[in-house]
Amino acid sequence: MPTSWLFAASLLFQPQSAPTFLEADARSIVTELADPKYKGRNSMTEDFANASKFCVDWLKAAGIPPAAKNGEYEQRFTLQRVGVDPTTTTISTKDKKLSLVYGTDFVLTASQTVNREVEAAFVWVPAGKSLTDVQRRSLRGKLVIVHPSQQRDNAALLQSLAPTTPNPPLGIVRYAETLGNTAATELVVKDLPLGGPEFRNVRLTKATAEKLASTYTLPEFFAQSPNAASVEAIPTKLVVAAQSKVITEFPMHNVVAKIEGSDPKLKNQAVLFGSHLDHLGLSTDGKVHFPGADDNASGVTASLLIARAFKNATIKPKRTIIFSLWTGEETGTFGSLYYSRNPIVNLKDTVAYLNLDMVGRDSDNRPLNDAADDNRDSVYAGIARLNSPDLYKLVKETSQGTNLNLRDDKDDRTARSDTRNFVPYGVPSLKVWTGEHPDYHRPGDTADKLNYAKMVRITQWLYKTADRLANQSGRPAFSEGAEYLQGRWTAPANTVVPPTATATFTLYEVNGARESVVDQITAVRPGAFPIRFALRTDPKKLRKDRSYRVDAVMMDGATKLFSGTAASLTGDNGRLTAVEIVVPG
Ligand SMILES: [Zn+2]
Repeated sequence: MPTSWLFAASLLFQPQSAPTFLEADARSIVTELADPKYKGRNSMTEDFANASKFCVDWLKAAGIPPAAKNGEYEQRFTLQRVGVDPTTTTISTKDKKLSLVYGTDFVLTASQTVNREVEAAFVWVPAGKSLTDVQRRSLRGKLVIVHPSQQRDNAALLQSLAPTTPNPPLGIVRYAETLGNTAATELVVKDLPLGGPEFRNVRLTKATAEKLASTYTLPEFFAQSPNAASVEAIPTKLVVAAQSKVITEFPMHNVVAKIEGSDPKLKNQAVLFGSHLDHLGLSTDGKVHFPGADDNASGVTASLLIARAFKNATIKPKRTIIFSLWTGEETGTFGSLYYSRNPIVNLKDTVAYLNLDMVGRDSDNRPLNDAADDNRDSVYAGIARLNSPDLYKLVKETSQGTNLNLRDDKDDRTARSDTRNFVPYGVPSLKVWTGEHPDYHRPGDTADKLNYAKMVRITQWLYKTADRLANQSGRPAFSEGAEYLQGRWTAPANTVVPPTATATFTLYEVNGARESVVDQITAVRPGAFPIRFALRTDPKKLRKDRSYRVDAVMMDGATKLFSGTAASLTGDNGRLTAVEIVVPG
């Protein structure tokens, strides 16, 4: 695709006048969905079905056709809660020195019956350090037992372990004093093969981990807390036998509707809107409902209004536009997961995915100096910068004249919404949201607190965006295999960050004395430490014979407050290991 296509397309394409969206319409739909009668729209209950019926009736009334099989709006699937049979699930060592008891020494989940021998290794990575390439490679195909002091949010460790290819670790094993009283079960979509590690949710008690360590490896490995990253393989295999079983099944459905494209060829391509309709349901005692007005009645409402505007437009879009109201986002993005494996239009023909999840509030995060008063017009145009610079450029253009202040996310956020099921398939994706606030996932997320004036401007911006995407001759390119170098900048507790500060992260390629900038991002009002960041890298350009460095600088006006560096990162098969930068105490 020529790089000039956006420019060419904007000359050829004459947009029709955009429709107006009314605050009253937005308010009335949000208020309906947040009503106590839907009891918080828990996707595994009738309450979700009732909320879904309201949306389906609304779509029918607006004359927007269904997109699922058999002329239905409901795209149906089954969710299963699976676990293992505790009486037949065991872990023992091949040399028969140890035999572990399910529920006492360990728990795990498996969605299929397993009986095999595996290798395992203990791993220790001190803060600010990372595994060497040799160490990372040595963990391929093994169960990795991670020390508990490193399990809380150690982005550097988990990132460096997760995507090693072609043979990633079999699973990450955690251990703690006790196994806790939660049963080890998990939710899976029926008949959908799971990606990811073969063994999940494996937990050992601390006593079991220590018994393993003292029987085979080095007890002092735990006592001494090594200064450098260390890996200690267990010199015998573990024999893992787990018999999976289905505990409960839940009938689920997404709501899907479409505006069919008008161009005979381009109608086989689609712009996909997604917003989750489900929310958290009722409190455990059943007395309080979680209205989820912002999360995510707001996104559903904007999608419905955009669908109706396209339905009523005099000139129909050339490409098809699909509107999906996802189920099961709050329990694990299951609705969009199912769709991504059973799409209405192939994902390779899906020119963009526009995710609306929380689009009605003013970001209000006092501890991070991100005050609602400063955010009356602001909205995050999240993740597109990282996966499709073309799409990012387009949404910046379509935001012009809307009086919206587009913000970048500080990190990629892919994992926190339905976008996680589209980015891995190469669909250029945008995550639209208006940010955190004190009512997030609380009963206080009510319809009266939304900024409807801004919400309708966001709706208009996304209508314009979809209109461009559906009609222009070219389509935004996905940054093929784009990787992010994810990192965290940490500092001693109580390090004060003024509200006026900015933090800039720069990734350099170092070739002897020559340096060049690979990517740079500046976070305005970066908030308190630790500060997360994601820098874009092009795997094809990373070279083994170069080294890479990240510089972090925090400025307050012209005053430099802090700076830090993570140096000597090496390009390894197209990815850089996550980094942690530490402000010295
Ligand atoms: Zn949400």
